Amino acid sequence: MIPKIFLKKGREASLRRFHPWIFSGAVAKKEGSPTDGAVVDVYTSCGTYIASGHYQEGSITVRILTFEGPGLPNDFWITALRRAYTLRERLSLCYQSNPQTTTYRLVHGEGDHLPGLVLDYYQGVVVVQAHSAGMFLAHEQITEALQSLYGSALLAIYDKSATTAPHKANLPLGDVYLYKSDAFESAQPHHTVLENGLRFLPDWEQGQKTGLFLDQRENRELLGQMANGSRLLNLFCYSGGFSIAALKGGAALVHSVDSSQRAIDLLHKHIVLNGLSGDRHQSYTTDAFDFLKSSPKGAYDLIVLDPPAFAKHTDAKNTALQAYKRLNAVAFDRIAPGGVIFTFSCSQVVSSNDFALTIFSAAAISGRRVKILRRLTQAPDHPVNIYHPEGEYLKGLVLYVE
Ligand code: SAH
Repeated sequence: MIPKIFLKKGREASLRRFHPWIFSGAVAKKEGSPTDGAVVDVYTSCGTYIASGHYQEGSITVRILTFEGPGLPNDFWITALRRAYTLRERLSLCYQSNPQTTTYRLVHGEGDHLPGLVLDYYQGVVVVQAHSAGMFLAHEQITEALQSLYGSALLAIYDKSATTAPHKANLPLGDVYLYKSDAFESAQPHHTVLENGLRFLPDWEQGQKTGLFLDQRENRELLGQMANGSRLLNLFCYSGGFSIAALKGGAALVHSVDSSQRAIDLLHKHIVLNGLSGDRHQSYTTDAFDFLKSSPKGAYDLIVLDPPAFAKHTDAKNTALQAYKRLNAVAFDRIAPGGVIFTFSCSQVVSSNDFALTIFSAAAISGRRVKILRRLTQAPDHPVNIYHPEGEYLKGLVLYVE
């Protein structure tokens, strides 16, 4: 028997608008003692079935998977992955239509109606990241569905959930291969992918997130188009996606800064892999803010600021906004006249309006004349469910500083 969740009176309104979460405050009673990760059916206070999803103790009690239950149909997972794949095909991200880009996000949580699940595709290798107990426990169904979706083109599936799945102590898996094909076993140890014709090494085992930050694909391409002859400072560079795009685009000089030596090592490999000369590039394993503060005025005419999420929770939002303000104010102060700043926030709790106002304050402190050239966001293989606007997490501004 599938456990049942009954909502308080009137609390089904957001579900009727397809919002994908049920908060604990909306729950009147539970039947059948659901455990973390179990599939549950959700009923209104009048006893009408409304949706099914993954149960989890905590402020988000149910993450909705379908409104067409009760329960999940047998073909739920393959249907959900096919739907996600169809969108990536529509975006010309799949190999047949785009041999220049062989990596994309196949599933982006709520944006693909699969809350708690991220699947990144790296030219035959899929990295799974579960952010909920239910997705973590569904790894067998997800593996089967991926095998069915990609067939013999599937080389391996790696589960990178050890740090993202909740209650990890009680869950049996994490940071392991769920599947390896013979071809993968016998292949080269270095698996490379293409992004807009540039070659990268996604380090899913040791690297950050699932290996690469695929959400910046289009923004890196844009920077590459503006880089010719420029001196770029790429702060929080990770494995150097922006640096490589700029070097390819003809940048005169690129300085890349990250506090992680592993990230910088990957960046050096990326320079070689792309046949670029290291003469125009210098890397620094250090704190980005300190580096920026000690850099002379006018040394750069392009600056990228792509820090990690400064705020992971609403309580930390104001502190995060202050940190964005300080960082950006120094960048405004240092950039050469006529320079361009690409500035980002990937904190989900910081809205695009909050972010724009913060950058506005930073510009005012610097006393420079600043113009907004573009507003950027995550690449479209990280779609936003219109009923879940919180999913729009990456905010970026391209600013011209006179
Ligand atoms: N722009 C990158 C992604 C950046 S992710 C890309 O396109 O791939 C954020 C990076 O900031 C991580 O690599 C992390 O190691 C680095 N980082 C975090 N805190 C830092 C600090 N104080 N100084 C320098 N780098 C930092």
